[in-house]
This record gives sequence, C-alpha cells and structure tokens, in this order.
Amino acid sequence: MTPKKQYYENTAKTIIANLEKRQMKGWYCQDSAAAVKKVLELVPEQSSVTWGGTMTMEECGLMDALKKGSYTLIDRLAAKTPEEKKALFAKAVCADYFFMSANAITLNGELINVDGAGNRVACLCSGPDNVIVLAGMNKVVTTLEEGHNRARNTAAPINTLRLNKKTPCSVTGKCADCQSPDCICSQIVVTRRSHIPGRIKVILIGEELGY
Ligand code: SF4
Repeated sequence: MTPKKQYYENTAKTIIANLEKRQMKGWYCQDSAAAVKKVLELVPEQSSVTWGGTMTMEECGLMDALKKGSYTLIDRLAAKTPEEKKALFAKAVCADYFFMSANAITLNGELINVDGAGNRVACLCSGPDNVIVLAGMNKVVTTLEEGHNRARNTAAPINTLRLNKKTPCSVTGKCADCQSPDCICSQIVVTRRSHIPGRIKVILIGEELGY
C-alpha cells in the first residue's frame, strides 16, 4: 500500500470512530469500485432512490450502477415545469435512500454542506429514510473552520463555474460573502449527529472525487 493510501485508511478509521459517536455509520472503501459495491450491498433492490447535486456519485460510477439496477430512480432534473419539480421533490423527500456528497468532513465526524435552493440539505436533515454520503478523501478537513473555508473557497467557486452561476467566487476563486441572485450559499449546514441512529451513512473513498 502506498503511504498516501495508508494515510487515507488511517484517517478514515479516525473519522468512522467519531461518526459512530454521532449516531452515524461509516465505512472506508479503497476505491470507487469498492464504494459502488458497498452501496449495492446496503441498498435493497426495488428501493426508491434519489440524490442531490453530486459530482462524486457520477465520478465513482454509482449513478450508472443504479440506472442498471432494479431501483426506482427519482430524478428532480427530469422536471419540465415548476409543478413537476414540486411533485418530484415531494417524492424525493419520501424516498428510501438519498445520495449526496459533502462539501467537507471533519476528523471529528462533522459534515459541512452549503446549498442554494436548499433541497439537498433539506433531505439530509429530514425526509428520506436513509442518507448515504459518498465522499472522496479530498473532502476531509481538520476542523469546522477549515470545513467552512473549504466549502466556500474551494467547493463553491468550482460548483458555481460548473453551474454557470454569476457569483464573485466564480470569477476570483474566493468567497466574497455575496448576496448575488445566483448565490449557492443560502444554507450552510453542519451535521453534528444523526437524530435517528444510523440514518446517515458515510462512505469514505480513498480517491479524490468531486469538489
Ligand atoms: S461568493 Fe457567494 S456563492 Fe461564492 S462562496 Fe461566497 S457566498 Fe457562496
């Protein structure tokens, strides 16, 4: 094992132990293929599944695996009208499984996420029976302060470019604490525990994935 992989594994063990104290479950997978296998073990066939804007899910191959499997997929981007969007969100809130990544995860097992419209963090906080957070080890930070910094000075500037949002950070790469119409930081959520034991499951992946 390379020193980097060993470091990822050691760090993940620390985080997983701290997630347990917060009523969250954690696993470490060495690579994307192992992470997809773990998800398919956790999620029974015929489950309804949905997700909130996550590049990690695409990059690790999970989206393709779910499309090939026997699951009911709820894709909010399939909505063509505001009414359809509302109906799909109602379905997503009642889904069996909700997938997302995190903008940052601390060594203490806290999750940090920023969101514009708030649908992603809404489902994280409450609604779907299970939340599975997939995160590359590039999302790991030491403290909450570092996590906020990562969310707003690394994740947000890249996501605003991906989504073609007109924000200061999309131009400068640095958060200006903006009030832009396109701001993707309306909600900043720190998850310090899962209210329902085991509802939030975190799969750490020994690769760099997402932003
Ligand atoms: S500039 Fe605005 S959108 Fe960009 S990180 Fe800061 S608050 Fe968020």
